Amino acid sequence: MDVSDSVERNARPEILVIGAGIAGIAAALRIRALNDSCGITLADAAARLGGKIAGDVVDGCVVDGGADVCIGSKLRATSLFAALSLGARVIRVNPDNLPTYESRDGELCKSPTTFHGELLTFREGVRELVDVACAALSDVTVRTNAVAESIQRTDDERWITHFADGTSLLADATIVAVPARAAMTLLSSLAVPAAKTLEEVAYPATTTVTMAWDADDVQSSLAGTGYLVMEPSSAVSACTWTSSKNPTHAPRGIVLVRGYVRGCGLDAVSLVRAEVASTLGVTAPPLFTRVYEWPAGIPVYPPDHDRNVSALGDALAAVPGIFIAGSTFHGIGIPDCIHSGECAGESAVTYLAARQIEEAA
Ligand SMILES: Cc1cc2nc3c(=O)[nH]c(=O)nc-3n(C[C@H](O)[C@H](O)[C@H](O)COP(=O)(O)OP(=O)(O)OC[C@H]3O[C@@H](n4cnc5c(N)ncnc54)[C@H](O)[C@@H]3O)c2cc1C
Repeated sequence: MDVSDSVERNARPEILVIGAGIAGIAAALRIRALNDSCGITLADAAARLGGKIAGDVVDGCVVDGGADVCIGSKLRATSLFAALSLGARVIRVNPDNLPTYESRDGELCKSPTTFHGELLTFREGVRELVDVACAALSDVTVRTNAVAESIQRTDDERWITHFADGTSLLADATIVAVPARAAMTLLSSLAVPAAKTLEEVAYPATTTVTMAWDADDVQSSLAGTGYLVMEPSSAVSACTWTSSKNPTHAPRGIVLVRGYVRGCGLDAVSLVRAEVASTLGVTAPPLFTRVYEWPAGIPVYPPDHDRNVSALGDALAAVPGIFIAGSTFHGIGIPDCIHSGECAGESAVTYLAARQIEEAA
C-alpha cells in the first residue's frame, strides 16, 4: 500500500511550509501572490507565529524581545516590502545619528565600527512586521503547536509530513524553514546525508531584559545608541539605550534600556540592573521589566557553512518538491530570511506548475 493511502488527499495541489518564523511566513505570502488556487498550510511547533521575532508594547513603550532593527536596503528589496506597503509603517532607527560605544573594563568609549547604512524598525517594534505579514496571509491554513517530526516520500512523488500529535499532511511540495537541528531531522528522514552538516550550526542562548525608568531617575544623558561589552567573560554582552536609539519607542519622560545576557536561566534581571547601576549610575527600581529568553538564539555558522549549504542544495536537487529557507541556511538577518523564504516560495510554485503540465501531458 502506498503510504499516502492513509492520508486525506486534497482536491487542489498543496504546499506545506514547515516553520512560521519570518522566512516561512514570507514563503507562504509569496506562494499566494504567485498562485491563487493552490492550498497552503503553514505549520509551526510553537503556539504563536513569528519564531525569533517577538515583542510587546507596555505602557506606551515598545519592547522588542528579539530583533530590534532591519537593514533598510535589504528590507526594501524584498517583495514583502511593496506587497505589504511597509514603507508607510517603517521608522528610521537612530534618527539623531548618535554614536555607539564599547565598554572596556567598565569604561565607555566610542566604537570605531559604525554601520553607515539605513536601519529600520516599526512604530510598534519589529514584531509589527510579523503582525502585518500574518494579517495578509490569505486562504492559508495555519497550524500552531504542530511539531513536524519526519517527511516521507510517496510512490507518486508527493510528501507526507508526520507531526508529533500523530497527524500527517500530504503535500505536493514542502518548504522546510525551521532551525538547524529540526531541519537536520526532517531532511535526514528523506535520506539526505548532506543535512548532517547542519549539526555544526551553533545556537548560543541569549536573554534580553528591557527596563523602563522615569527620566528623573536617570542622571546620565544616554547620548548614544548603547554599547557592546568587549570582555567575552562578561555575563552582559551589550546594552541598548532604546529610548535614544528609537525615540518613538518610549513616551517623553521615560528612559528605556535593553540588556543582552549570555545564556538563559540566569538571574538576568539582577545582572542587567547591576550593569545599568555601574555604567549609568541608575539604582532606582524600574517602572517595569520584560524578559525574553532565547535558549537557541542567533545561529552561528561554522566556517564552511556556505559550502555545506551549497552541497545540501545539490543533494536536494535529487529530491524534487522539497525546498529550504531561513536563517539556518541563507543568512541570519531578517531581510535575508524574508528573501530566502520568498525564493523558496517561488521555487515551490514553479515546481508545482511544471508538475501540473507534466501530469496533464
Ligand atoms: C535576541 C535576538 C536579537 C536579534 N536581533 C536581530 C536584529 O536586530 N536584526 C535582524 O535582522 N535579526 C536579528 N535577529 C535574528 C533574526 O531575528 C532571526 O535570524 C530570524 O527572525 C529567523 O527567522 P527564521 O524564519 O529563519 O527562523 P525562526 O524565527 O527561528 O523560525 C523558525 C520556526 O520554526 C519553528 N519550528 C522549529 N522546529 C519545528 C518543527 N519541528 N516543526 C514545526 N515548526 C518548527 C519554530 O517554532 C519557529 O517558529 C535576532 C535574533 C535574536 C534571537
